[in-house]
Amino acid sequence: MRTMKKFDKQIAAEILRYALWFGVLTGLVEGALLYTLRGFDLLKGQITYLGAGLPVLWIAPVFDALLFLLAAAGLVVLTLFLPQVWVKRLALFAFSFLLAFSWLGTILSGRLSPVAFIILAAGIGYQVSLTLFERDKRFAPFVRRTVKGVSVFAIVLLVVIQSGIWISEQIAVRNLPPAKQSAPNVLFIVIDTLRADHMSLHGYERQTDPYLASLAQQSVVFDNAYATSSWTLTSHASLFTGRWPYEHKADGGRYLDDTYPTIAEALAARGYRTGAFNGNFETVTSRWGFARGFHHFEDYYQTLPQLAVSSFYGRFLEYYVLHKVFGMEFSIDRRWAPSVNRSALDWIDQDNDRPFFVFINYYDIHAPYISPERARFSQFENPGGLVNTDWTTADIYNPKTPEQVQGEIDAYDGGIYYTDQQIKWLMDELDRRGLLENTIVVITSDHGELFGEHGLWEHHNSLYRPVIYVPLIIRYPASVPHNLRLETPVSNAALPATMLDLLGEPSQDLFPGPSLAELWRDPSAAARFPDPIAEMAESSWVNPNHLSIKGDMVSVISEEWQYIEHEFNGVELYHLKDDPDQLNNRAEETPTVLDKLKNYYLEAIAKLGLTWPYDIEK
Ligand SMILES: [Zn+2]
Repeated sequence: MRTMKKFDKQIAAEILRYALWFGVLTGLVEGALLYTLRGFDLLKGQITYLGAGLPVLWIAPVFDALLFLLAAAGLVVLTLFLPQVWVKRLALFAFSFLLAFSWLGTILSGRLSPVAFIILAAGIGYQVSLTLFERDKRFAPFVRRTVKGVSVFAIVLLVVIQSGIWISEQIAVRNLPPAKQSAPNVLFIVIDTLRADHMSLHGYERQTDPYLASLAQQSVVFDNAYATSSWTLTSHASLFTGRWPYEHKADGGRYLDDTYPTIAEALAARGYRTGAFNGNFETVTSRWGFARGFHHFEDYYQTLPQLAVSSFYGRFLEYYVLHKVFGMEFSIDRRWAPSVNRSALDWIDQDNDRPFFVFINYYDIHAPYISPERARFSQFENPGGLVNTDWTTADIYNPKTPEQVQGEIDAYDGGIYYTDQQIKWLMDELDRRGLLENTIVVITSDHGELFGEHGLWEHHNSLYRPVIYVPLIIRYPASVPHNLRLETPVSNAALPATMLDLLGEPSQDLFPGPSLAELWRDPSAAARFPDPIAEMAESSWVNPNHLSIKGDMVSVISEEWQYIEHEFNGVELYHLKDDPDQLNNRAEETPTVLDKLKNYYLEAIAKLGLTWPYDIEK
C-alpha cells in the first residue's frame, strides 16, 4: 500500500494558480462567446438557453474560476498519494479539457451530442496538456506572471458592467422631464398563466384568491376580459403597446420590435421612473424586446442559482448532473414572488421624489405547478409537477390518471392562492409607506391554462376560452369606482390607453384604445367597444400536440359567441353561455354569426393591407 506523503505547499500553490488562470481564461472566452452568439441568435439547446446578457461577461469567468478551483482542491489531495509529476500532468490535462469543453460546448450544444464534444474536448485537452507540460519551464512562470492580471480583468469587468448598468439608470432618471404635480404611481401586475375561471372572484368554488376578491370591493372588475393570445410573448407585446398581434407581430419567433411605443416609454416621457421586475425569464426579457422604456429592467441574474446557470458549466451541471443523474425535477433558477416583491420595493424606496411605473410579472402559477402552496387544496401529499416545462425531456402530454389530473389542477390552484397572498404582502407594504392611495393598480394575466380540455395541456396550444380568459382589476380610489363589475367583453390590450386616460390624457394617439374608463363613465360606450381579438402564429418549437405547431390561429369574442379559426383545421363557433365547455361547434348551423365575426376580423386586418393567414416571415 502506498503511504501518505508529506503535504507540499509549493505544488499545491502551483495547481491552484493554474486552476485560477485556466478558469478565468475559460470563462472570459465563454462569456464573450455566449454574449456574441446570443446577439446573432446562434445559441441552441438546453445548455445555453437562458441568460446571455452583458453580465455574462463577468459571470462566466467568476463561476468557472470557482469550478476550476474546486477541481484543483481534489488534485491537491492527490499530491498526498501520487508522484508530483503525475499530478501536474493530470492537472494540466484536467484544466485544458475543461477549457476546451466549455468553448466547444457553448458553440456545439444543441447541434452535436454532448458525448461527441466530450470526446473532442478530451482529444484537444490531451494535446494541449502535452505541449504545455513539455514547455512547463516557460509556461509555469508565464502563468505566475499573468494570473493576477487575468483575475483582476474579470473583476474589473464585473465592476464596470454592474456599475455601468446602475449609473446609466441614475443618469436616465436624472434627465427625465418633471412629472405633473402629485401624479399618481402606476403599478401594473401581470400574474402569468392565470385563467380567470379558477378565481373565486369569478365564481370558482375554491377560495383561491381571497385577497384579490377583497380588493375587488375597492375596484372595477371586468368579468369578461381577454388576452390577445395564449402565450407570453404575443400577449405581453399587446399589454405593453396596446396593439393587436396583427399590428405588433410579436409572435412565432418574432420579437417585439420598436414600431409602436410602449406604456413604459410613454410614462418615462411624462417624468416617471420605470422599473420592470420579472419572474418569467423565458420571454419577458430584453432579448425579446420588452426592456424598451424601462430605466430598470430585471429579467435575470438576481440570485445565486441564476448567476450559476447563466454560465455554460452551471447550466451543464444543472441539466446533466442535478437533473439527469440525481433526478432533480425542476430547474434551480425559478424566481418566486417574494424575490420579485423585494426587488420592486427596494427599487421603489430608492427615490421618493418622482412617481413610479412598476411592471411586475409573477411566474409562480406557471407550470411546473410547484409553488409552496401546491398542496393547499389537495388531498394528495405532493400534487403537481407532472406538467413539467422546465425540461423538454418530460412530455406534458404523458398519459395521466384522473387523480394525477386532479393533482395538477390542485397544485395550480394552490399557486393562485400563493400569488394572491404575495400580492397582498406587496400592497400592504405600499400602504405602510403611504403610497397605495396615490397608486393606480392594474392586475391582469397574459393567458390562461388548459388541463386536458380539448385534449390540450398548458398554453400556447390553442385559443379556446380558458387559455385567453383573464382577470382584469383596476383600483385607483381617486377616480375609479368602487365595487363595480362590468360585463362587456374587453381586451386587456386596452390597458396602455386606459392608464394614460387615468393620468388625465383621455384622448391621445400613442395607444389606440379605447380607454376602458369609457365603460364606467358612459353606459352607452359598450356598444362601440371592439370585440376582443386573439391570435397565435405557428411556432415550430412547441409541443407537437399543440395546435400551434402547425398553422396560425385567430379568435374573435362577441357578447354571445366565440369564433375560432385554425389555418388548416377550419372554423369553430361556440355559444359562450349555453356551451361553456365549448363542446358543440355551431359553425355550420349558424353561418351568419360565423361570417359576421370572421368578417369583423378580416376587415380589421385589411386596414393594414393584410389578409389571413398573413404570410410574414416566421
Ligand atoms: Zn405567460
